[in-house]
Order: sequence, then C-alpha cells, then structure tokens
Amino acid sequence: MIYRAAIHRTFEAGGQTFAYSAASGAVVALDETSQAVLQRCATADGVDHPRWLDSAPDETRLTQREAFEELVGMGLVRSEFEPALTADPLPESAFPLQTVVLNVTNKCNLSCSYCYEFGEDRLSDATRARAPRMSEETARASLDMLFEKSGRLRDLTVTFFGGETLLNLDTIRASVDYAEQRARETGKRVSFALTTNATLLDEATIAFLVEHRFGVNISIDGAQGDHDRHRTFKSGKGSYSVVLPRIRALLAAMRGRGRPVGARVTLTRGMADIAETYRHLHDEVGFESVGFAPVTSSSERDFALPAEEMDRLLRGFTALAEEYVAAATQDRQHGFSNLHDLLGELHRGVSKAHPCGAALGLVGVSTEGQISPCHRFVESDAHVMGDVKTGIDEKLRAEFLHAGHVAQKIPCHSCFARPHCAGGCYHEAHVRYGDAGSPNLHACDWIRAWTALGLDCYARIWLANPGYLDRFEERPKLAVRSSSETQA
Ligand code: SF4
Ligand code: SF4
Repeated sequence: MIYRAAIHRTFEAGGQTFAYSAASGAVVALDETSQAVLQRCATADGVDHPRWLDSAPDETRLTQREAFEELVGMGLVRSEFEPALTADPLPESAFPLQTVVLNVTNKCNLSCSYCYEFGEDRLSDATRARAPRMSEETARASLDMLFEKSGRLRDLTVTFFGGETLLNLDTIRASVDYAEQRARETGKRVSFALTTNATLLDEATIAFLVEHRFGVNISIDGAQGDHDRHRTFKSGKGSYSVVLPRIRALLAAMRGRGRPVGARVTLTRGMADIAETYRHLHDEVGFESVGFAPVTSSSERDFALPAEEMDRLLRGFTALAEEYVAAATQDRQHGFSNLHDLLGELHRGVSKAHPCGAALGLVGVSTEGQISPCHRFVESDAHVMGDVKTGIDEKLRAEFLHAGHVAQKIPCHSCFARPHCAGGCYHEAHVRYGDAGSPNLHACDWIRAWTALGLDCYARIWLANPGYLDRFEERPKLAVRSSSETQA
C-alpha cells in the first residue's frame, strides 16, 4: 500500500528537528531515522509499505520500520486510502452550552473610531430601533437557557458585554444573584467575566467585581498617544486620563483577592511598537496579562492594517515572544497572553474542527433576547438562531456549524496551521467576504507566521524547561513519542 507524508510543518529549534502534524495537532521531536523516513514519504511517489523496507540494510530495517509506524501513529504519514482531514467531526446532537455572552447594552459612552458598531462593519440593521438595555427578565431567561442547555457540564461562565457593559450595572447585579442561586440549586459552578472601557469603574463597582471574582478585560490601546487616537468620548476628547486612575484602583483591589485583570489592545495603523505598548501596560500600569488583536474592519478603513504594518506587528510579536521564552526558561510567567494561549493549545494537541466556540459551547444574546453565534453577531438579523424565551433553534445552529466546519474550507485542508486556525474568526469572515463560513484567506500569511512563531517558542521552552509546560495540562495532551523517546 502507498503511504505519503500528511500535511505537516518541520522546523528546527535549539539544534533539534521537530514536526507539527496537521492531522493530530501533535508537536513531535524527530530523530535522524524519523526525519529520513518522513522525507522519503514526502516524495511524490511516497513509499510502498512494507516492500520499501526490503531495500533497507539489515542493521537499520527494524529502526526504520519502528520510525515509520510511529509516524503513521502520529498522523504524519498516512495511507492513500485514509481521509486527509481528521479534525473532530461535527457533533451529532445539540452541544452543551458552557458560556453565554449577555450584551447587556448596545449603548456606549465612548465613540471609538474603529468600533464595529459603527460604519460599514456594523452587522445590525441601523434602521430598526433596538432596546438599548437588556432587562433583568431577559437576562434571567438567558441564564435559565444556559443552565438547562449545559447538560452534564459543571463549570459555566456568564460573560457581560456591550456597548459599554457597565452602563447596565443593574442587570449585571441581578444576573449575578440569579446565576449564583441557580448554581446552588443545580450543584454547578458559575464564574463571571466582563469587558469594559473602564470609564465607569468606581469604588462600589470595583468592590462588586472583586466580591464575585469577575474576570475583567479592559479595552485599552497602550500609552496616552495611542489610546487617545481612537478611544475618544463623543466630544472627541481622549479617554486615557479618565480611565487610568480607575484602572489602577481596580488592579490594586483585585491584587491577591480577585482574578488577574487583562488588557486588550486593538492594533491599528500607525500604532507604537508592540513591546513598548506591552511594557507600558504591564510594567507601568500593572496589568498581569496583555493581549493584542488586529482591528477587524474592511480593508478600506483608514485605521485598517495594510500588509507592511502586519510585517511590523509580526516583528513586534517576535520580539515579545523572545521575552516570553526567556521568562519561561527561568520558570517565570510572562504576560503576553496571545502567546500563552497559543502555547496552551499546542501543548494540549488541540485540533479544531471549528475556529472558536461560537454556536458550539457559547452563544451571544442581544438586549432583546435574540440568540446569535457569539457577541459579535448580536443584532445581525441574518445570524439569529432563536430567542431566550423560546430557545435555541437547533436547526439554524446546526446549519451555522456545518457551514463553519473546517471540512467545508477547502484551502485549509492543505494548510499546516489548520489545527490551530480552522479557518479563523466567523465575524471577520463575514465582514470581509459576506460569508461567516469563509476561511480568513486575507490573513493566512499572518496566521501561518504566527503559528510558526508559536511552534518555535514551544519547542525551545520544551528543550530548556519542560516543567514550565505542565501549567497547560488541563487535560491529557495528544503529543506522542518519537522513535528517540523524545516528545514535545
Ligand atoms: S484560514 Fe488560512 S491559515 Fe487558517 S487554516 Fe485556512 S488556509 Fe490555513
Ligand atoms: S466568531 Fe470571532 S468574535 Fe465570535 S467568538 Fe469566534 S473568534 Fe470570537
């Protein structure tokens, strides 16, 4: 039978050769025999197994056969009859809900120029009036849906989003009371998360967030110049000087009592250097983690990131990744959350059939109670999949998941980054191509370069301080041994 190399990426790190299997999501250290066999299988003819072993010298035949069998086991080599794509299949029945994202308001007290609520990137029909705030009744119905649809899952999450989330603190407080009551009744655990622009953080709100151990994400774009360029009040005045003392108060209150507070930076054209931004937010302001996200917009917007800016960002990510690796080598946590999250996925051997949890374990709810795949699709009439009073429309949900499954994304089938990417964000795909099920083809170079950087960092940490990676072991990793007994 003919066997050929499956889609993978080989790379060198610390003098060692590794391979990343797109079939299994495993990162594997290769010895010389495994490398030679993999290279042979990567030829157009592949190998005719087991006949090819006849030509091997007696003294190496056994090790070659072992190496071959291990490569097959790791998904790096496959027979001509084996399907190329082995991502998790679509669930056959309704998937349990783990997270509900409540858009408690669609109003905001800022007027950030890149906000997807404005301009042509907006998915909502601007001609139709929407309830500006979610009522407590709608929030409770959403939580009932979460608990009822959660099946056997014990740990549930309620995330509050906006607009500016804290403009509807009454509904947030009522939701927390109700969710905690439902958790007690059902024997489940519930945790809370919230994204805010920090303008409304006051003493009482901070005490409430600490008491209920909220995971808080603050939208902030770096030092004052970068932040105030886009994150302005409606008057045009920048918000940095208003939010900074409030953020410092939150960080001080959370330290040692609450959960780590994250900064979320939206990257736009002309931004400062990534490492400089990180240092300001982490070292000077005191955030424990800092995450960066390129702005989601059509390419015509003047803040959109052109190709040359993406190259600059990648150089910035690379420099910050070096700092992360140096810290990890000394067993210290570094706050570059993008890389931390990617390393976790690589370590656990994640191989995604869908790019994210949207419509799978997570749904968004609009102020009026309409259910959508995630928070970014709320108020998009084309993506409604039910209402919290009548329940999730499982047919629409299944159709969305079917269209978004990586099996439908032909360009992704031959891409080594597929286990981690699976086609990229549905919302971004919709903004770019008018089709949430389309792969994010405009971003492939970036995604592959980022994945390659993550693989390099992962392998170097594994070589220098493998114990650091234990923190990612929430569930058994899928990485498997190579013929030299090494594994990453
Ligand atoms: S969207 Fe691009 S980078 Fe992502 S898996 Fe598909 S082809 Fe690869
Ligand atoms: S569709 Fe995009 S914005 Fe929505 S949850 Fe997925 S990655 Fe996030």
